[in-house]
Amino acid sequence: MSRSSYDVIVVGGGPAGSCVSNLLAQAGASVVVLERERFPRFHIGESLLPTELAVLDRLGVSLDALGCVRKRGAVFIDERAGRRSCFSFDEGLPGTPDHAHHVERATFDHALLKAAAKAGAEIRELHEVVDVELGDASGVEVCVRELDDARNEVARHELRGRYLIDATGQQAMLARRGKTVEPYREFGRAAVFRAYAGLAPEINAELRERGDILIFIVDDGWMWGIPLPSGDLSVGIVKTKGKAEPAVLDQAVADSPLLTRLTAGAKLGPVRVIGNFSYRNTAPYGPRYACIGDAACFLDPVFSSGVALAFAGAEKLAELLAPALHEGREHDAALMQPLSEHMRPAYEAFERFIHRYYHTRLIDNVLLAEHDHSHNLRSGVISVLAADVWRDDNPFQNMLMRARRQ
Ligand SMILES: Cc1cc2nc3c(=O)[nH]c(=O)nc-3n(C[C@H](O)[C@H](O)[C@H](O)COP(=O)(O)OP(=O)(O)OC[C@H]3O[C@@H](n4cnc5c(N)ncnc54)[C@H](O)[C@@H]3O)c2cc1C
Repeated sequence: MSRSSYDVIVVGGGPAGSCVSNLLAQAGASVVVLERERFPRFHIGESLLPTELAVLDRLGVSLDALGCVRKRGAVFIDERAGRRSCFSFDEGLPGTPDHAHHVERATFDHALLKAAAKAGAEIRELHEVVDVELGDASGVEVCVRELDDARNEVARHELRGRYLIDATGQQAMLARRGKTVEPYREFGRAAVFRAYAGLAPEINAELRERGDILIFIVDDGWMWGIPLPSGDLSVGIVKTKGKAEPAVLDQAVADSPLLTRLTAGAKLGPVRVIGNFSYRNTAPYGPRYACIGDAACFLDPVFSSGVALAFAGAEKLAELLAPALHEGREHDAALMQPLSEHMRPAYEAFERFIHRYYHTRLIDNVLLAEHDHSHNLRSGVISVLAADVWRDDNPFQNMLMRARRQ
């Protein structure tokens, strides 16, 4: 018989929810993760960043055991102008880890969830939270719909907790209920993507030689090419304007000589569309609750920052909440103020970087520059691309921040 009361209720079993529940369970808290899907489930966002390696160690997840493609850096390509530039993580500022990985998110997210279970968290898949009561001074309450594999409701439960963590990704459960979603209107708004399977062996060898993420600069947006462990190539387009429909992706691939060559003869996976993104939650924490990962903020994924920021928020939240639960301070409305302060420089660095990507000559002056910028500035760009953004000696990041203050 499952229990109905926990120290912490985590809604959502993606990277943010799995990470925070793993760390809290390691610290001795009773934790339940309520996840509406059955894992493994498809998720977009396959390109990880170097700073995630240390977190994965803490979670007990080995990427080597999962299968992954070693990623050395990012290549920015403007085929319209015939220009490209490669940023290798091993040329980052001292201390920036020198590589990352591409993963199949279905496998990766499942491994994270299983690691949380191993650490002691109770995982309930096919459990969708449909209502939340935060107002009670003694705790929080959620109403959960239990589903079968055909997604029919089989039961409803009420669960109580001392603390609620919203890790529902772009569902952003609390932000949408509280109407605290603030869109970034000038960033990418929608993506169209699919996997290309059965690439020619020489194409696969070419893509894996360095394992870089390919970022194509196109009008009103950008495209990605990510070599996956399965041998497929994940390709997508993000647009700031216009309709996001399958034909947009097909046309963009046809317009790109490189993507046309890489995907020649490949078998097409299903096209998927995601819209309505790039926003922040203006109330990411409060009495007895906090939001992390995409439930707190989702930035245009041009720099692949999503999972890294989800992990960073999860780690800080666990660090603050574990002792508070121990000392009975979890009701303190200001408990998560340091979480907000911790995440601010990271969100601001990426926000400013993305803003400049779309609205300034950043692409010409920095990302595709053939000459000029000092070695240190280039290393600084690479450290931001690696999500190594909690440091104060990065000349590029400091420049972004100064621009914000002005
Ligand atoms: C087009 C695109 C490309 C991207 N590319 C990258 C990339 O290359 N690298 C990168 O790092 N990031 C990328 N991202 C972002 C990345 O996918 C997310 O930032 C990351 O998944 C956030 O993790 P999360 O745990 O917050 O949310 P999610 O991974 O979305 O997990 C949330 C979970 O909550 C569950 N859930 C939702 N509502 C409920 C509910 N009511 N009850 C129970 N469960 C619920 C969902 O089923 C889901 O499993 C990309 C995103 C997009 C849209």
